[in-house]
Amino acid sequence: MTTSRASDVLPLVPALSDAIGRRFEYLRLSLTDVCNFRCTYCLPDGYKKACNKPTELSVDELRRAVSGFAELGLWKVRLTGGEPTLRRDFEEVARAVAGIPGIRRVAMTTNGYRLAERARVWRDCGISAINISVDSLDPARFAQITGHDRLEEVLRGVEAARDAGFDSIKLNAVLMRGVNDDELAAMVDFVTTRDLSLRFIEVMRTNDNTAFFSQRHIAGQTVIDRLEADGWQRLPRQPGAGPAVELGHPEAKGRIGIIAPYSKDFCASCNRLRLSSDGKLHLCLFGDGGMDIRPLLQSDDREALTDRIRKLVGTKARAHRLHEGNSGATPHLASIGG
Ligand code: SAM
Ligand code: SF4
Repeated sequence: MTTSRASDVLPLVPALSDAIGRRFEYLRLSLTDVCNFRCTYCLPDGYKKACNKPTELSVDELRRAVSGFAELGLWKVRLTGGEPTLRRDFEEVARAVAGIPGIRRVAMTTNGYRLAERARVWRDCGISAINISVDSLDPARFAQITGHDRLEEVLRGVEAARDAGFDSIKLNAVLMRGVNDDELAAMVDFVTTRDLSLRFIEVMRTNDNTAFFSQRHIAGQTVIDRLEADGWQRLPRQPGAGPAVELGHPEAKGRIGIIAPYSKDFCASCNRLRLSSDGKLHLCLFGDGGMDIRPLLQSDDREALTDRIRKLVGTKARAHRLHEGNSGATPHLASIGG
């Protein structure tokens, strides 16, 4: 029998915490806000470059940033975007982040672009967990949602990720009323018969998608109720896991997670910080904007950086204001990494 040791589950240094005691162990690092897809809930008109757009953080700036967060006890980093794999130096970034002392897990989220060819290389760069967005298993519908007729290619990517030996492979599906809500059973079957996990994500309201949101939002609780009726059971929270509700089934190989930011107490288990691709620290996905820490990434003055992060984290709000119809300043999740 294997038993977990305290060193398997505890961070190596005391975790960074905020004024109400939430501990931060997980950094979502956006490498770019550029994306090649046009998901209806995110960038329906495709990526548009803003005038005077700041450059993306360089590998050196990213290395300094992650080293600072690691010194504060964050040990898990997710590479995200936009589409993170569009960065030409994506593999260099992944290797740099994976080599930072204190970083014990590097994950990525991708729309599956180039996954079929690059899965093994990305695994060899030190990425051990991968989330792949698959909002529909129907090719025509997938094309309608993303603007790209590439379901078959993305599913080949999922197989390549399995062959490459990632420790964790999750499929992310955004739940949309009247778009893919009739696919729940097919998606659940897809992961129960394969060693894969599935995450249903409630569509989130952002500044650019308010009409879409009111038409398409479905509460994640309805999915939880259906799964529980089919014998799925809630699982205990894993170390470093976020606010997702996880369910397992005795006959299923994979697990199912539900991310329901509109549910009660979602913010109580928030354990993550976000850094945008131009160096803004976001304390909340639905906050009023990011705070620029890029000036502190120009030298190796680690103390100045960690002091600033600590002070900013101390100001994190207790909860988002989504219930008041306030989704903050985020135009779309591609701008901040989801
Ligand atoms: N481009 C990559 C992808 O789509 O996987 C990574 C970035 S994307 C912003 C990260 C995740 O956020 C994806 O799973 C995507 O489906 C999800 N997402 C984007 N906009 C969303 C929204 N308005 N509501 C809920 N999830 C959203
Ligand atoms: Fe691009 Fe991901 Fe947004 Fe889709 S969800 S448009 S793939 S950033």
